[in-house]
Amino acid sequence: LIELRNITKTFEDNVVLDDLNLRVGENEFITLLGPSGCGKTTTLRIVGGFETPDKGQVFFEGEDITDTPPNLRQINTVFQKYALFPHMNVGENIAFGLRISGKSDAYIRDKVRYGLRLVNLAGFENRRVESLSGGQQQRVAMARAIVNEPKVLLLDEPLGALDLKLRQDMEYELIRLKNELGITFIYVTHDQEEALTMSDKVVVMNGGFIQQMGTPEDIYNEPQNAFVADFIGDSN
Ligand code: ATP
Repeated sequence: LIELRNITKTFEDNVVLDDLNLRVGENEFITLLGPSGCGKTTTLRIVGGFETPDKGQVFFEGEDITDTPPNLRQINTVFQKYALFPHMNVGENIAFGLRISGKSDAYIRDKVRYGLRLVNLAGFENRRVESLSGGQQQRVAMARAIVNEPKVLLLDEPLGALDLKLRQDMEYELIRLKNELGITFIYVTHDQEEALTMSDKVVVMNGGFIQQMGTPEDIYNEPQNAFVADFIGDSN
């Protein structure tokens, strides 16, 4: 579904991604895992269209989208800080993208309800954003992304700010959404355990390179080098 081909990205003289190649299949949950600064977020931003690579190409369904702006990709992003609009209520936040694309009021009302149901927040339409917990706000951000019916959802450490119980609930919910909606997920985290429990495939990154890519079982049982062994071992 998505292919990154020979992607290089440099900020000033810092080579953040060095000839990166990655393929993501349809309805796959793929996690980019690695220490802080290894280029995970930059990779995600390139897939989402928020950053242009210096070299290389991004393909979506075989088509080169390297220069396609984010709003014209069938890819939606939920960032680490789930910037909801504080002056709008929950329903208006979720409806925002649909309004911009000119959908009818009736369509929007149905979609908002549907989105809230999916993230277990039915009935929250008229709540003020500030009155929600961090976890609830994160769910609203997720609902907002989902109602736009993206083929791909990019999630950048979406659970970072949540406590353990909520994290576990959300992990479960993400897997359910993937199975129910057939969406492809690209997920960024530095949390080994999170990566190993949720993903179909884990991509371990360090220093702008992919150190290893494989199923959680492969990564855990057969680390290909000392970095992967150490990094995964840290979670035990
Ligand atoms: P984290 O888990 O801390 O978010 P990460 O693996 O997602 O880390 P990136 O955010 O992709 O890493 O950053 C990789 C490197 O690129 C870092 O050294 C960062 O300082 C640098 N970087 C990222 N964006 C920019 C930018 N806009 N300008 C300059 N340097 C940047």
